[in-house]
Amino acid sequence: MQRILSRGEIESLDHTAIPRFGLPVRATVFADRAARLRHLAQDNPASAYLLLMAKLVDAQQRVLSGFSAPEAPAERLSLAQAHGMPPMQAIGWQRDPAWRGMLVAMLDHVAGAGVPEPAAKVCAQLKRLAHEDSAALETMADAVLAERDGEVDSAMAPFVMAALQVYWTDLAGRFDERQLPVVSPFGVCPVCASLPVASVVRIGGQRDGCRYLCCSLCSTQWHLVRVTCSHCEQTEGIAYHSIEGGPEGIKAESCDHCHTYRKIFYHDKDQYFEAVADDLATLPLDVLMGEEGYLRASANPLLWQHP
Ligand SMILES: [Zn+2]
Ligand SMILES: [Zn+2]
Repeated sequence: MQRILSRGEIESLDHTAIPRFGLPVRATVFADRAARLRHLAQDNPASAYLLLMAKLVDAQQRVLSGFSAPEAPAERLSLAQAHGMPPMQAIGWQRDPAWRGMLVAMLDHVAGAGVPEPAAKVCAQLKRLAHEDSAALETMADAVLAERDGEVDSAMAPFVMAALQVYWTDLAGRFDERQLPVVSPFGVCPVCASLPVASVVRIGGQRDGCRYLCCSLCSTQWHLVRVTCSHCEQTEGIAYHSIEGGPEGIKAESCDHCHTYRKIFYHDKDQYFEAVADDLATLPLDVLMGEEGYLRASANPLLWQHP
């Protein structure tokens, strides 16, 4: 079994040796997530939803291979460098209209994969919207990126989000990380400025024992010292919660300063933990945290009806 470093031990390491980021691997990012969703769907109370999302994530992997968004303009990158800002901030980004065609292709894959009738209906409605009212679809995409839950249709939102994930994962996967500013604002993705979904404690190589936050949009991972609130950066009043008798290596990291939590997955207990999939498959832990008076720091990108 791998040894997990304590906070002090990690800090005493040469910081330059810990990679700050991990950009998504284009060939496998969604395929790995889909496989994990299928695995987790066995014996899970949310099995039907996890299997539907696995089909959506399969479709993401398929369309990603043929999709290429226009690169970030050079002046935008140098502005981000100069001000220490994420270079491809999703909110306010000039999206190429091609993303709507990519969404339609994804919906066709999902609808053709034998999904239950209500899901097929949502796909058909969204496809119609893409063809007949692109302005309304763009408005919905803006609301999804800004997590304005009240302004989105909760059944359509995961599909819109999935297309936006493909768009930004494509950008992040082709990004030269030497172009990232040396410092980044706390709490958001250094590439696209979206919120993390959860964090993982990695094993192996230079990342061994280090904790990485996982972007809900572009799938980038970035380093954050352990026993630190990923929402407000406090290091006091951090506690770890888990379901009694539940699987090992899954905890909720809570903060008594801001009263929020995010889940943390330990790869030394299960190397296949995948932030988006495992977060979605562990809703009972969210129920427990709600009962203990903590709020989720941010939502799961594939679930818009929260428990
Ligand atoms: Zn990101
Ligand atoms: Zn906090």
